[in-house]
Amino acid sequence: MKCACGGKAVYTRRYSGQIFCKKCFNNYFERKVHDTIRSQKMINRLDRVGIGISGGKDSTVLLSVLSKIAGKLEITLHPILIDEGITGYRLSGINAAEKTCKSLRLNLKMASIKDLAGSTLDELQELGDSKPCTYCGVLRRKLLNKEANEQKLDKLATGHNLDDEAQAIMMNYVAGDINRLHRLKGTATDSDLIKRIKPLNRIPEKEIMLYALLNKLEVASDECPYAGENHRTKIRDFINTLESDQPGVKHKIISGWEKIIETSTPEKKPMHKCKICNHPSSRKICRSCELTEEIKIKRKDATKEVAD
Ligand code: SF4
Ligand SMILES: [Zn+2]
Ligand SMILES: [Zn+2]
Repeated sequence: MKCACGGKAVYTRRYSGQIFCKKCFNNYFERKVHDTIRSQKMINRLDRVGIGISGGKDSTVLLSVLSKIAGKLEITLHPILIDEGITGYRLSGINAAEKTCKSLRLNLKMASIKDLAGSTLDELQELGDSKPCTYCGVLRRKLLNKEANEQKLDKLATGHNLDDEAQAIMMNYVAGDINRLHRLKGTATDSDLIKRIKPLNRIPEKEIMLYALLNKLEVASDECPYAGENHRTKIRDFINTLESDQPGVKHKIISGWEKIIETSTPEKKPMHKCKICNHPSSRKICRSCELTEEIKIKRKDATKEVAD
């Protein structure tokens, strides 16, 4: 089998039957990211774009492709890595992210959950926390917002791909959560200080993996020790089964969702300023400050127990 240009085939897309050589695949991929940015009006000329990078395949591919088209878009890139403090997992991501940023001559800014909450995610587990992903998600979001604010960034890009989007849509269908379905559009929520964008949101995970592989990108592949079987992994497996029976179903989930949000309106919640950090929030105390306070109490209780 050969690509339409006559080159050696490296990939056949099941749902469309298209065959690609390496060069044509790279061209398609980079054009697709550019088109997604343009059609979803993600970026303006001269924007300072932050990129949440973990060293994993999605954010590394995102950074690498954006650095190729940054000149055309007339934007600057500002990678940010959040260190959750997870032994045996985060270090390989930091190493990979540092190498990528060095090769692209970009300055990598790091921030840690320990600096924000006084404990690493591992230390939280020792304090008896059984919800590492909740703490991780909320505190990471807060840190990214804080960094973006301090660096006066205009947009914050993340590496969410089409599979992530299809899973999130399904999870919110199941919960009947119209507000969250709207939030997936990636526009700034009232509690975010900056507009979030997802330039890979129309590219399947499989193609992102292939791009990283073909271009020999430095990618960390360790899995977080706290990632286990949960609601999302069950939804992921369900969608993958549908996709293998009926190629293209992930794209259909996205187009169905686009029609639904066009014809529904999200609920408008009254906004406050968090009493502790002063950031916009729909609560009197934002979720991140609430968790940080919870952590302080747990630490105090643990110290008391040791003293007793
Ligand atoms: S799986 Fe690990 S990295 Fe992902 S949210 Fe949970 S704790 Fe954080
Ligand atoms: Zn070709
Ligand atoms: Zn707060």
